[in-house]
Amino acid sequence: MVGRAIDRSKPVCITGASGYIASWIVLYLLADGLTVHATVRDARKASSVDHLLKAAQGQPGVLKLFSADLIEEGSFDEAVRGCELVIHTASPFIIKGFKDPYEALVRPAVDGTRNVLESCNRSGSVRRVVLTSSVASIYGDAIEALSKRGHVFTEADWNETSSESHQPYSYSKVMAERKAWEINKAQSAWDLVTINPSLVVGPSLTRNTQSTSIDVMRDLGSGRQKTGVPHLEFALVDVREVARAHVLAGFNPDAQGRFIVSGPVVSLLQMANVLRGRFPQYPLPTRELPKWLVRWVAPIAAGVSRAFIDQNVGYSFSFDNTRSQSVLGIQYRLLTDTLCEHFEQPIEDGLLRRR
Ligand code: NAP
Repeated sequence: MVGRAIDRSKPVCITGASGYIASWIVLYLLADGLTVHATVRDARKASSVDHLLKAAQGQPGVLKLFSADLIEEGSFDEAVRGCELVIHTASPFIIKGFKDPYEALVRPAVDGTRNVLESCNRSGSVRRVVLTSSVASIYGDAIEALSKRGHVFTEADWNETSSESHQPYSYSKVMAERKAWEINKAQSAWDLVTINPSLVVGPSLTRNTQSTSIDVMRDLGSGRQKTGVPHLEFALVDVREVARAHVLAGFNPDAQGRFIVSGPVVSLLQMANVLRGRFPQYPLPTRELPKWLVRWVAPIAAGVSRAFIDQNVGYSFSFDNTRSQSVLGIQYRLLTDTLCEHFEQPIEDGLLRRR
């Protein structure tokens, strides 16, 4: 099946435009001369929109701001109206600091996706939706890689193990993606492409993000993990590649289905070792803690469950990113520079003490 060509003279709607990833997407769309309907929860809130207004300056494209909340029915109607392409990124990316995982994560992710897609259905104009999913929708725990050939996850894999009580963020992502495919299949006006990034790193255009991406670096450099880190591995990808993937997926008629967008897998200690080369004055961890010790202290020290430790610490895995390269044309940059740029960000923003 050949996909749809999108009319570039029509506005493009992007939800959650204030976010870490979305801000880069907005910048690329504006640089391409497009009109962008950018939704944020409160368009009057300076901390959500100032960096977008700044990014728009001097760009050939036009930025229009809209207020819309994922859990407010119909609130995306106005922003979506007249758009052929909708990029839906809005979804909470938090893994701690909440009491009720359903209200904090699952409801906004799943009901929000339904809400946005129903606006697309009502619009009469939308022809393609690009959804920001995640590798969290591909797998639940690293231990699952043991059953994969070469420990490699592909777009054919689905997370079938997360729940509201175990890995609720991952659960919110897989349920939202499943909901999107279900709604997509019930109509024929628009096709759906999902971008499934791994942990996104690299420079941020906004200080005002709750993204866990920013927290990981801050935790490494703050000294909290000075005594050691668990052997936890993360697949990483540069935020600019992820943003570019959304734009390419939006306009490439051949883009269909799911796209894993991920660079290499590194352990926390490997990340710390890279950073130490450039930032030797920071109290970065120098060793890995044994799993039994992590299992003992993590629930209290880091609010992480023993089930999470059991199923994620000490396991290796990777992702097949072939489709993102061959269909979308993504070229992955070396991550050493990205990691250092990412580490500098909370220092520049005053979130991590300058040493
Ligand atoms: P972020 O900076 O925290 O952005 C999340 C966005 O979601 C914010 O713009 C936020 O809007 C919006 N949002 C949250 N709750 C909302 C609600 N009830 N109504 C409307 N908007 C709401 O995080 P991010 O890292 O850029 O994440 C963006 C997307 O990428 C998410 O779907 C996330 O799951 C996905 N993702 C992220 C990573 C990563 O490593 N960062 C990896 C894979 C997938 P406000 O500013 O108005 O609060």
